[in-house]
Amino acid sequence: MVIDSHCHLHDPAFADLKETLRLSMAHDVWGAIAVGCDPETNAQTLEAAAAAPKAVWACLGFHPDRTDLTEDDLERVEAQIAAHHSRIVGIGEIGLPWYSLDGAPDPGALKTRGRARLDRLLDLAIRWNLPVALHAPHGAAADALAALKHHGVERAVFHWHKAPTAVTRAIVDAGYLVSVTPDLVSRDRDRDLVTGVPLDALLVESDGPWEYGGEFEGIDSGPWLASRVAEEVAKLKGLPIEDVMYQLSSNTCRLFDLMWA
Ligand SMILES: [Zn+2]
Repeated sequence: MVIDSHCHLHDPAFADLKETLRLSMAHDVWGAIAVGCDPETNAQTLEAAAAAPKAVWACLGFHPDRTDLTEDDLERVEAQIAAHHSRIVGIGEIGLPWYSLDGAPDPGALKTRGRARLDRLLDLAIRWNLPVALHAPHGAAADALAALKHHGVERAVFHWHKAPTAVTRAIVDAGYLVSVTPDLVSRDRDRDLVTGVPLDALLVESDGPWEYGGEFEGIDSGPWLASRVAEEVAKLKGLPIEDVMYQLSSNTCRLFDLMWA
């Protein structure tokens, strides 16, 4: 059994939460860390966790690549975190903009605004002693690492991690985790990442409802894909699947401070 460490259960694709969890369980996935992106999806994420407290753990977030989000939205998210800090397991997804910089009229200003917003959210992670689930792909990863260190955040995962090898090494050396998606099955970049990172620094995720190609073409995305990712980690590490699932689950529990079921 394994836990999906990052899924958007607020998405309409998972409107039937019971069926989502039943299907996940049938695939050896016994729960999911549910992340939000803005005030509305955070509220839906809290509802999902309240409806299934033994299988859904909520993180409240503010998506860094959503250019439509305003200062008012950020204040609402900060208020949500303050109000619910004792019943959430983390802050996420938060991070730094990357994809939205491409083609933006003033990427420098977006970067500066993104860092200021991340600073405010990391302050809350420190205040409430919560881990963070980061969206900081490619060129954003090194800056996010610097921000974590600057704020003294001790628990963090770089979700759907992709970064230069040296940056990944610095992330792992600092005690943070990195997470891989079903892309691991077909993408050499992700396979090299898993080979180079110790098992105790890895998490697996679906990032559902994000859809994947290759063997996942035409298959609905959701937490149930996390066990397939774990299976691929086991192959790459040359270890028994049961041991790898145990270690990945234990990593997730350690990061988000979950009780063992
Ligand atoms: Zn996500």
